[in-house]
Amino acid sequence: MDDKRIFLSLAHEVGCEMKYIREALSSNWITSGGPNVDAFEKDLENHLRNEVHVCALNSGTSAIHLALILLGVQVGDEIICQSMTFSASANPILYQGATPIFIDSEIDTWNLCPIALEEAIVDRIGKGKTPKAIIAVHLYGVPYKIEDIRTVANKYSIPIIEDSAEALGSSYKGRKCGTFGDFGIFSFNGNKIITTSSGGAIVSQSKELKDKAIFYATQSRDNVPHYQHSEIGYNYRMSNICAGIGRGQMEVLDDHVALRRKMNAFYVDLFKDIVAVTVFTAPDDDYFANYWLSTIVIKPNVEKGIDRETMRLAFEAANIESRPLWKPMHLQPVFEKYPYYGGKVAEALFDYGLCLPSGSNLTDMERERIAVVVKGFFVE
Ligand SMILES: *Cc1c(COP(=O)(O)O)cnc(C)c1O
Repeated sequence: MDDKRIFLSLAHEVGCEMKYIREALSSNWITSGGPNVDAFEKDLENHLRNEVHVCALNSGTSAIHLALILLGVQVGDEIICQSMTFSASANPILYQGATPIFIDSEIDTWNLCPIALEEAIVDRIGKGKTPKAIIAVHLYGVPYKIEDIRTVANKYSIPIIEDSAEALGSSYKGRKCGTFGDFGIFSFNGNKIITTSSGGAIVSQSKELKDKAIFYATQSRDNVPHYQHSEIGYNYRMSNICAGIGRGQMEVLDDHVALRRKMNAFYVDLFKDIVAVTVFTAPDDDYFANYWLSTIVIKPNVEKGIDRETMRLAFEAANIESRPLWKPMHLQPVFEKYPYYGGKVAEALFDYGLCLPSGSNLTDMERERIAVVVKGFFVE
């Protein structure tokens, strides 16, 4: 049997990426910005049903940073952030000299807990500071509790940065993820649902804010013939070559989402008789998840030697990659000194959860290899 390594998530090029890259090369648009960037932004705006304005950037991280800048976040401000996430959600808070306030997850979507969120806001206001923004994440492509989080945010007039890095193609009640926040962000890093090799985007609710994002992302040049700057700028714009890859990838986004969802259904079926394992699925039909990564929670059984780590090692022995869920930010050495609100939901997910191979390009043979490991591991 072919035992080539099976990865969690790999780039999957099947659209017209080369055509758009060639166009960029032959027209000499080899820079940041350009026709592919404009067209890629249009593709994304179309996907988001033209309800919002998209500015393509060089990463999801820079998109979060620009969202904080556009919200006027300054040194000493407090920013609320979901603890259970990738560090890129939180790092830009520190770039601005602001303070992260981390919040636990709830068990239905594994995302920001609305109750802990409100407790935190009330406590921070009591201590003299109203948080400047809330960073909410759609983890593994499952939408957070959109309505509950919006209700709390509006009650205290705090804007939401919607971290949709993992959720392109997901939706809630028929509306696309990325459009719910005061700002939304996407990532097109190599392992995400579509890729531009490296890239991201910031989603704004107005053309003026999109233009302001482009201004900051291209070194804040004043509108005069010479180079003049009245504000600090950033080199955050997407390159025209990367956007060419993105245009090709947008043509196959829906197919990729369907294939990732098929992987999730495969795992639901594979684990259906294994009581120790729960496959993470969206709470109800209002939530449409792209299942960027399929994940499971394993109930440990000391007698049988079953836990998250022994399962991971069993996959590893068959040259199959799996990985613990995101380690919560409030447990990270670099962030542990900052305030945290909530209980132990995120910690338990980290202790018992595992991400499984989820790529849109896995073959039947690779699925079979995964099934063999699982059946062997849980044999009575
Ligand atoms: C990938 C990711 C990011 C960062 O995106 P980059 O393009 O890698 O900078 C931010 N937040 C979350 C939740 C992510 O998964």
